[in-house]
Amino acid sequence: MLCTANIKIRRIKKLRRETISATSILEINKPRNKNRASKCLVWIVKPPYNQYMNQSAHLYLLQKLDTQLDQILARVSEIDRLLSEDERVRAARQVADTAHRNLENARLEARNADHLVSDQKVKIEQSEASLYGGRIHNPKELQDLQKEIESLKRHLATLEDRQLETMIALEESEQVASVADSAFEKTQAEVIQAKAGLAGEREQLLKTRQRLQTERSAALSPILEASLQIYNRIREQRKGIAVACIDDETCSTCGAPIRPAEAQAARLQSALHYCSSCGRVLFAG
Ligand SMILES: [Zn+2]
Repeated sequence: MLCTANIKIRRIKKLRRETISATSILEINKPRNKNRASKCLVWIVKPPYNQYMNQSAHLYLLQKLDTQLDQILARVSEIDRLLSEDERVRAARQVADTAHRNLENARLEARNADHLVSDQKVKIEQSEASLYGGRIHNPKELQDLQKEIESLKRHLATLEDRQLETMIALEESEQVASVADSAFEKTQAEVIQAKAGLAGEREQLLKTRQRLQTERSAALSPILEASLQIYNRIREQRKGIAVACIDDETCSTCGAPIRPAEAQAARLQSALHYCSSCGRVLFAG
């Protein structure tokens, strides 16, 4: 009898090597003859190990690591974008270029105005030389020449007003160009400094990512393939968050209330439980 029972228990051990222990009772070789019941062997065998035990806790740890990795990836992408484009510098340079083009135009106009005034003065000098040179004796001719000089002088006044305007405009343009140059240099220096800071931050993020990836590999080992598939599917469908905590009887992610019975079931961690509202795996730590 004992021998037969031993053989049977060995078979069971072989089949469920890891499951045998002392949580439930399995009667083996139950005797048909009730009189021999006292002699029958009662073997204490553990029920099959619940392989879904603690899966929500393992998934929660994985979620925390993945969230950090997602944040790092997003920041690195942002830094790469900032490092590759110089929008601020480009805008400041554009302002400075425009200011210098306006300054060149103002210089040209001022030079033209100067020339016109000089030419006009020469004309007046020549006319006055003729008037007072003593070579013209005809009174009518002298009178005409005097009128012409007066006209030339009136126009000279207009040209000198214009000259003054162009000088003021030139001064303003010089000021605008100078301010634009300073702004451009300041922006360029700020961007260079910011880039140095960004490059340092990027390097630090990549180091953290490497550490988190190592931790992630370790966190994956106790997770069953089926659980991982569920996790990946929910993460894809739910903006990267597959596991939610039960926080004050509500889902920490969507805020939906969790019934006490559901919270208790999630707390036992004997199977995966889901938020009835958002469908995420619930973790009750
Ligand atoms: Zn939820």
